Amino acid sequence: MSETVQPFEAEVGRILDLVIHSLYKDRDIFLRELVSNASDACDKLRYQSLSQPELLEGESGFAITIRLDEAQGVLEIADNGIGMDRGDLVENLGTIARSGTARFLDAITGDNGQDMKLIGQFGVGFYSVFMVADKVIVRSRKAGDENVWLWASDGKSGFSVSEGETGAPRGTSIRLHLKEDAKEFLEEHRIRSIVRHYSDHIAFPIMLEVKGEEKAGDEESRTDQKAPEQINDGSALWARNRSEITEEQYREFYHHTAHAFDEPFARLHFTAEGTLSYTGLLFVPSQKPFDLYDPKRHHGVKLYVRRVFISDDVETLLPRYLRFVSGVVDSEDLQLNVSRETLQHGSVVARIRKVLVKRLLDELAKKARSDEAIEGDAAVAEDKADDAGETVSFENFWADFGAVLKEGLYEDRENRERILGFALFRSTRDQDWTDLAGYIERMKPGQDRIYYISGETVASLRNSPQLEQARARGVEVLLFDDPVDEFWLPEVGEHDGKAFVSLTRGDVDLSGIDGSDEDDGDKSESGIDDTGKLVARIKLALGDAVKDVRVSRRLTDSAVCLVADSAGMDMRLERFLKQHNQLDSLGGRVLEINAGHDLLKRMAVLADDESKGMELDELSHLLLDQARIIEGEPIPDPGAFSRRMSRYLAQAVAA
Ligand code: ADP
Ligand code: MG
Repeated sequence: MSETVQPFEAEVGRILDLVIHSLYKDRDIFLRELVSNASDACDKLRYQSLSQPELLEGESGFAITIRLDEAQGVLEIADNGIGMDRGDLVENLGTIARSGTARFLDAITGDNGQDMKLIGQFGVGFYSVFMVADKVIVRSRKAGDENVWLWASDGKSGFSVSEGETGAPRGTSIRLHLKEDAKEFLEEHRIRSIVRHYSDHIAFPIMLEVKGEEKAGDEESRTDQKAPEQINDGSALWARNRSEITEEQYREFYHHTAHAFDEPFARLHFTAEGTLSYTGLLFVPSQKPFDLYDPKRHHGVKLYVRRVFISDDVETLLPRYLRFVSGVVDSEDLQLNVSRETLQHGSVVARIRKVLVKRLLDELAKKARSDEAIEGDAAVAEDKADDAGETVSFENFWADFGAVLKEGLYEDRENRERILGFALFRSTRDQDWTDLAGYIERMKPGQDRIYYISGETVASLRNSPQLEQARARGVEVLLFDDPVDEFWLPEVGEHDGKAFVSLTRGDVDLSGIDGSDEDDGDKSESGIDDTGKLVARIKLALGDAVKDVRVSRRLTDSAVCLVADSAGMDMRLERFLKQHNQLDSLGGRVLEINAGHDLLKRMAVLADDESKGMELDELSHLLLDQARIIEGEPIPDPGAFSRRMSRYLAQAVAA
């Protein structure tokens, strides 16, 4: 068996470099990582043994054992879980195709100082052992296998894998040869307190064994071993009484199950009893997971049946738009021995899902309300005691997760109103977020619709010419800048009896709304005797380039704007679909002109003069291109645009 050292994958090398060279202050997290892995390994085997009991080899009790050997300077952590064979060792401990570390790498900036801080935030799984050890030997025997494999590394040059002597117990043991400055981790009380702090929630017993002084001579009792002692609670956290669980325990449990290191934004812990009995412990993160938009991502809720881990892959347990939620659901009703596929489509999971969704959305609504309460009146901060520590505001949460939650508006008809109840939007009122209730409350007398405009960014939307009439009348307009808005708007249509109406489609008439401004008057209805003639001339000049030309009711300052036909799709949705190759071409646009604008007034004069036909054509094309630019649509012939533009600029400068 060759014992040649093979190098780590390049990224692993980089991580190790950071781990080893950073003087990380919470080095004790290495133990949390190892215990977490050991617990996962036990969960996996317990699940597999449901269908293959022989894998247990008669040993059905699971445990994690920490052994301290002061004389050797070695800390060992062993589990009797699933174990790893040669391939697993190379794959799992030599590459980074795994959650925790991949996330870390994603966040790495290249700036060493910054990156060292990240180690603290993310944890780097198994590799954190090299913060405290300069030699690590993993010995593992996979359940059901005879072969024992050894993986060894100094965390620098690479790792070697070799075959070990047969006869080792099932599972994995990891021996850390502690660095000179890490000997504190041989102290019994230190280990006890670390385990209590980070790993008390682990559902398997964690045993501590302290190897005593060597006694010379006497072969029989060379070491005087103390009896192993259990140092964690060892019961599933979610099955304990809520009042007996501390914030810290909840937090550590979240970090363990979600592979996350942020402060949870919201937590739900409940037990349902009745036709179905189950316990749920769910967490909503406060920091956006790096893969939130990865199509492969689904929620992180693990399914247990009577405390036995079944699967972290029952996709149907939560809808896609709640894919940032993690935690545990433990059912009393399901059969232990059913396949994931059967579970996935069974009625029990469907019924549990319904309740989970409702509870989660209600909790978010509560969060939104308590945010408002805090803003409005500092004294009304409602039952804060139930919330997990310091975390972000609902607005900040929404900024990161709102776009995902809005997917629920078209995917989950049943809960649409729940989501709309706390959804936040930008508006022309000010820079703040608003909810729909706030918008509706501020509606003008005579206004019975919710006006919006959608585009690429809120900043550019604020300058849209299509807003001018609304602004002049003091009508508030919602600004939608998430691509997902294009999908739910047509589905949802209205809220609280008020239709959502786009200001960039069709002919929107705000004249029935009682504007508060003195001179809200229709500036656009002005100055030109025969608008019909001007419109006809521009139409003639532009030909097929536009679907129609008409006098605008929405412009007060800008000369022109583009809008979609009332029967057509919203312009932005069209552009979005075209970008994603779902549409061959954009539909025809309607060019709206501002009859009150000086330029249009002069053009009206030109329209009366036969000899100025050419000039009118040129100006019409310039106006259309200008409207396209404002709208963010491509100019089909930029060369022609630039020639025309330069000619008029030259004239203006010469004059
Ligand atoms: P993560 O836990 O985020 O996947 P780690 O670096 O902690 O990343 O662990 C890497 C992988 O190594 C695990 O996903 C698991 O497959 C394997 N592994 C680590 N420790 C053990 C163990 N004690 N028993 C079995 N497999 C393990
Ligand atoms: Mg891990």
